[in-house]
Amino acid sequence: MLDQKIEQAVNKQINREMAAAYNYLAMTAHFEKLNLKGFAHWTRTQRQEELNHADRLFTYLLDRGGTICLEAIPEPKTGYQTVEEVFQAALEQEQQNTREINALYQIAGQENDIATQSMLKWFIDEQVEEEKIVDESLALVRLAGENMSALLVLNGQFGQRTAESE
Ligand code: MG
Repeated sequence: MLDQKIEQAVNKQINREMAAAYNYLAMTAHFEKLNLKGFAHWTRTQRQEELNHADRLFTYLLDRGGTICLEAIPEPKTGYQTVEEVFQAALEQEQQNTREINALYQIAGQENDIATQSMLKWFIDEQVEEEKIVDESLALVRLAGENMSALLVLNGQFGQRTAESE
């Protein structure tokens, strides 16, 4: 039997993953508007990963006999001024996501819910990968700075990205 506290916390995490996906969708719209198709591809790939995270938690709750409780998704941030600002926001979002997963893992520990902790281990490893990808990408964008030629090279490079994980 799934503890109610865990059920609520996992439902909350589904909402956060959807909110992260929505933020990446807004970033995608921003890049598409600027015709920066490579960067748009990159944020679209991130969005898909967040949707997959939400799906994974959704399936887990159902597998444990839990009740799904979907809440409103907050309005995403818009009005980015620079490419760097978008990647900085992406990194902060991933760092926040890591803190949320860690907190969820701790709640599962307090409730002695070993199955939920086991499920969350995948997410803990995934966040290491997510933060690494975004951090490396942000570093490259920072190197390019305001140099449009360099940014266009990165736009081409980021457009080649394939999904590394689920
Ligand atoms: Mg996620």
